[in-house]
Amino acid sequence: MDTIATLVDLLSDIDGRGYKAYKNLRRAWQFPDFVLHVDHVQGDPFAAPTRVRVLLPAATAGLANAALKTPSRRMGVASLLARRFHDAALKTARRRGSGKSGAIEIEAPGQEVLAQSAVMVESDGSVEARFRIGLPASGRRVHAGEATALLTRDVPSVVDESLRADAIGHDIVIKHALTNEDIDVLRAKLGEHNWVAFVADGSVLPRRSGIDDRPLLDDSVVPFSSPESLRAEVDLPNAGQIRGLALPPGVTLIVGGGYHGKSTLLRALERGIYNHCPGDGREYVVSDPNMVKIRAEDGRSVAGVDISTFIDGLPGGRDTAAFTTSNASGSTSQAAAIMEALEAGASTLLLDEDTSATNFMIRDRRMQALVPKEGEPITPFVDRVRALWVERGVSSVIVLGGSGDYLDVADRVIAMNEYRPLDVSSEALRVAADFPTGRHSESTAPLGPVPERVPDPSSVDPSRGRREAVVKVHDRNRLALGKELIDLTAVSQLASEAQTRAIGRALVLAHRNFIDDNTSVAEILVLISGMIEEGGLDVLDERLVGDLAMFRPLEFAAALNRLRTLRVSRDRSSDGL
Ligand code: ADP
Ligand code: MG
Repeated sequence: MDTIATLVDLLSDIDGRGYKAYKNLRRAWQFPDFVLHVDHVQGDPFAAPTRVRVLLPAATAGLANAALKTPSRRMGVASLLARRFHDAALKTARRRGSGKSGAIEIEAPGQEVLAQSAVMVESDGSVEARFRIGLPASGRRVHAGEATALLTRDVPSVVDESLRADAIGHDIVIKHALTNEDIDVLRAKLGEHNWVAFVADGSVLPRRSGIDDRPLLDDSVVPFSSPESLRAEVDLPNAGQIRGLALPPGVTLIVGGGYHGKSTLLRALERGIYNHCPGDGREYVVSDPNMVKIRAEDGRSVAGVDISTFIDGLPGGRDTAAFTTSNASGSTSQAAAIMEALEAGASTLLLDEDTSATNFMIRDRRMQALVPKEGEPITPFVDRVRALWVERGVSSVIVLGGSGDYLDVADRVIAMNEYRPLDVSSEALRVAADFPTGRHSESTAPLGPVPERVPDPSSVDPSRGRREAVVKVHDRNRLALGKELIDLTAVSQLASEAQTRAIGRALVLAHRNFIDDNTSVAEILVLISGMIEEGGLDVLDERLVGDLAMFRPLEFAAALNRLRTLRVSRDRSSDGL
């Protein structure tokens, strides 16, 4: 394998030549401590930077056996290394010419610990980091001096600082490994005990700001403390015994005055589908992996979704058993989101009054008197939430400050009072008995099955111009697929741009392999998950890329459902049976 000396010679040979001369770098280079693979060289200094990988042998990485024992531990460590690499690159990289010259970029994980492809830790202790570097140019010519500095000083220094246990501190590495393992164990306990979520006492739920997901750390923070009636203790393999709120299934209300922490608790549950890194404050907040946040999203498109459970008899005789629109209202979008979530396997729904359509949530006695059911297409959620639980085993957690009508349908009521949860279920029962709502239930038939939808292959087209598949991620919430832009703003459980990108690639894969006039949405989800489970995230891209992270089938479905060109049919083209 060529060594650093050859690399330096090569660079000086091509100094001052056209930028394309950098293509000669494409190969594996033996550095003193690692191997650097240059996989793809950028075409010019302004293009997407050059894709490289660093392979660090176990002896150099120096990760203790205890950090490597289980996949869960390795994932915690990988996430830590990726975060450290990102920080080191920010500190070290500097502008070394025109365009992206000198850049060192890695996909940075947020507070969540996800399976991702930026940094991978193997069971033998070796480490692979995938990142991008901007090969230096002056104007559009090779700048060998700067390139030498980038490749032989900056990159090794970032690697040295961020991918070796000695540099990070062995205690920190072990902490990340063991915490991640504990979280996985804790989430497994949800299933064993039939809990929907667990929120450990002492957790810090509030975030620094609406755009900063790090924990709020000041004197005003009230750590979480569980109400005694819902308290449980669990044993974790590393952290030992922890205590906290164990949320049973069924219908749970979170009530309380404005600004008392209701939405913050719900948001923590919503994020509890993911593991969090040590120091996040929500390490031991875990939720049902199939929990889905539902919100109103007026303006979105809907393709052939049966929302008749909630909405029936729209003006003009519009069909709500296969509801299609390019411009949903608040209530129809929320109904569609629920049915789509059920189709994709949701087992718990989260709703917050802050982001719900009022007419979808409630219809009180006076409104029932003024506008009789015949003139109102909506059966409000309050009249369906019990059926969801009783008939389908789907739990709901609902944040409400404004309507007491839900007291009649709740299994338990948690009141947030100055950020402290209280179990007010028995008071709620009394209030419900003392103050009857006087409304009558508007639910009619049972929920019935969720009809299968089969996407029309021609309606999912990732091509643009002469290119067969174009996936572009502008940010976490905006995914360009072919000529279409998918708006994922309302899909609040997406945690990173890397997930959005992986979903985009998975849509391309689904288009190539599974969407065929005969495969339902639910079946497509199973097929895609199976492929990734078997081959890892690398099955999503022909190239070796470091910018992908694992996603749930639920978010994949959410993206497919928001593709504005999507058309579906209910009947399979060939009836196999
Ligand atoms: P609600 O939904 O009840 O109106 P929020 O959950 O939006 O209230 O919280 C209101 C504010 O209080 C937010 O700025 C939030 O960050 C902050 N907050 C929430 N929980 C806590 C807590 N445990 N300690 C300190 N501040 C908190
Ligand atoms: Mg709120």
